[in-house]
Amino acid sequence: MKITKVESFVLHVPITPPITDAINAATHWGLAGIRIYTDEGITGYGYTGTTAKGDEMIVETIDRYYGPALIGKDPFMVKEIWDELRFGSMHWIGRAGITHMALAAVDIALWDIMAKAANKPLWQYLGGHKSKKIKAYNTNGGWLNWSKERLIKDVTEIVESGFTGVKIKVGKPDPREDYDRCKAVRKVIGDDVIFMIDVNQQWNINTAMTWGKKLEEFDLYWLEEPLNPDDVMNHRKLADALNVPIALGEHVYSKYAFRDYIHQGAVEYVQVDVTRVGGITEWMQVAGLAASYDLPICPHVGDMGQIHQHLVASTQNAIMLEYIPWIRDIFVEPATVKDGHYVLPELPGASTEIIPAYFDKYRVR
Ligand SMILES: [Mg+2]
Repeated sequence: MKITKVESFVLHVPITPPITDAINAATHWGLAGIRIYTDEGITGYGYTGTTAKGDEMIVETIDRYYGPALIGKDPFMVKEIWDELRFGSMHWIGRAGITHMALAAVDIALWDIMAKAANKPLWQYLGGHKSKKIKAYNTNGGWLNWSKERLIKDVTEIVESGFTGVKIKVGKPDPREDYDRCKAVRKVIGDDVIFMIDVNQQWNINTAMTWGKKLEEFDLYWLEEPLNPDDVMNHRKLADALNVPIALGEHVYSKYAFRDYIHQGAVEYVQVDVTRVGGITEWMQVAGLAASYDLPICPHVGDMGQIHQHLVASTQNAIMLEYIPWIRDIFVEPATVKDGHYVLPELPGASTEIIPAYFDKYRVR
């Protein structure tokens, strides 16, 4: 099989209503991606996720460098292609950020092609592990800009709809407000629902020590991204000092950076995101690294779960997957949760193929 043509795209899918966490505000979810065409009639779709800012720079990397380098290549040589792009002309300015997220889009499209060629959903092509269902937890009721009333209403509805895990955002200017919101949420969801909180890097080590300890009384399943994601040392201090486990990974770009976190005991739930680490090829290496430390994988869904459902379903130490339904409607086979669990995809590929009408409707480049 040979790659004959590539085409980049940017889609902006509206988020209704707009959301914030402690450091981000978003009105749209951005998909910066690539369609890869082959001489056997199979087309692969891959994308990375953004807050609809900077995605034009990601596809610029594809248009100028990664795309032309793919022409004539065999998609089944995905790891060789990955190395060539990673260590090619972009290496001087790359290794993380824009270029690495562009690499993720390319890599995902190549795995989509291989699974389609094998006529299998990606989770089976990768060696299926979970023949039943993947537990989903819901993040979409706990945004920081929600009033306390809306927060309570949303998490109540989420639990009533069958979810047994919820996550809310914290990191308000006054942490006493976070405490009040957490207390209210734990009260309405009861003791049996697992409850996570996400600081989105807003705290410093002192705030995290103080308020991490105080919030433990709400029986938190994990404390997510409490500090700057480059600060392994202080995450280690926090992990040693707190009973609540530390979760992070959505801003960690490589297996080397994960190695430092994992080996130092600075992370306890590994949230490696396929759209961040340069795609499926590197994601699987991080998952293997975590497995050797008996650490569970619970990916952050920069892809909104379309690709990660396959990865969790084929990875022994992956235990749960985040659910945010913002963009599901645009896909030929949308990520679907029933009774609090993902329904495993059945169509061949990585569930990245987009319905043409939505592709045209939301395309901005
Ligand atoms: Mg997070």
